[in-house]
Amino acid sequence: TIREGQAERRRMHNLIQELRGNVRVFARIRPFLPGDGVDDDAEPMCVPKSEVALKLVNGPGDRKGYNFSFDRTFGPSVGQEAVFTEVSEFVQSALDGYNVCLFSYGQTGSGKTHTMQGTGNGQMRGIIPRAIEQVGQYKEMLEKDGWQYDMQVSFLEIYNETIRDLLREGDADPDLKHEIKVNPDGRRYVTNLNMVPLEPTDTEAVEEVMRQAAKHRSVASTDMNAVSSRSHSVFTLHLTALHPENRQALRGTLNLCDLAGSERLDRSGATGARAKEAMAINKSLSSLTDVFVSIGKKASHIPFRNSKLTYLLQPSLSGDGKTLMLVNLSPTEASVQESLCSLRFAAQVNKCELGKAKRSLEEVDDEDAASISSAMSGAVSRRS
Ligand code: ADP
Ligand code: MG
Repeated sequence: TIREGQAERRRMHNLIQELRGNVRVFARIRPFLPGDGVDDDAEPMCVPKSEVALKLVNGPGDRKGYNFSFDRTFGPSVGQEAVFTEVSEFVQSALDGYNVCLFSYGQTGSGKTHTMQGTGNGQMRGIIPRAIEQVGQYKEMLEKDGWQYDMQVSFLEIYNETIRDLLREGDADPDLKHEIKVNPDGRRYVTNLNMVPLEPTDTEAVEEVMRQAAKHRSVASTDMNAVSSRSHSVFTLHLTALHPENRQALRGTLNLCDLAGSERLDRSGATGARAKEAMAINKSLSSLTDVFVSIGKKASHIPFRNSKLTYLLQPSLSGDGKTLMLVNLSPTEASVQESLCSLRFAAQVNKCELGKAKRSLEEVDDEDAASISSAMSGAVSRRS
């Protein structure tokens, strides 16, 4: 049957994924923009050389430059849909019961938010809305096979090592304390964090959630731009599927992270009080670097606990999970040094190997099934 054919293709696909490893890096170079203030005939400093390779040069006269290769490289003409096509297998992994993390990394203005969130509800929409659509399609398919399916979303921001809930109710205290805790199965949860049940096909409800998050981000400070470039946002899809008849359950987590601008991390190599301040603001970002350096060295201790971001993402960054780094790059000459730093970190991440990812498909008894089922939201979406 068609469905068996699909299942077989998926099995093959998963096998290939496992052979290719569970940390991947995609690079994306954005086009020149009016705000870059360059001539129409300006040469981009960063250019794709193939589907996987790219070259960064130091200036218009530089012939030698630096060469890098990743799992995929997207040039300036590659649009949102084409990028998502390559990303969708990671979404599928979360749907299949894995802990998955996608993060966009790069200096401010390189295209991180464009890639993760995008704009509007047309061709320019980014990974977050497209991932939700994919969940909706898959949910429909599973339900035909007798599964119950539940999606809840949370959206938080880490600023200066403090977690804020971007989906808190309007009158809730913005300074409510949020702590990261560990479930018996190792997954993380955050105390006092709103989990919003969403029907993935209800685009209006999805848009409302995004609007609410944007509002909370902007009222958090008088200088919205500065805050958003110094804070990490983590949008999480919490997925639960239950097959009461077959007594099977699975849970997947998809973390979609739009990281703080990487430039302060590099500048913190400087000295003095400003460097110290920059370090504090960017503890999560430098800890992320430390984690990948340690994984790359196959160190016995990986310092996940050193920051909120790495502790929260530990299940996807360590043995059982899957991680995709999207390194965003600007083509301008003024960005070359920052681009080089980003590319070097990306190369470091690219060298890392995680263990074989672990899928959370479990057998459940009637009692477990009943409790999972009652915890499901029944997709009463919050639209008021
Ligand atoms: P960041 O989040 O890294 O600071 P943004 O995503 O906000 O950067 O991108 C900066 C500007 O560049 C935005 O106006 C965005 O719409 C635009 N931009 C980024 N990437 C692309 C792209 N691939 N194609 C077209 N415009 C882009
Ligand atoms: Mg941004």
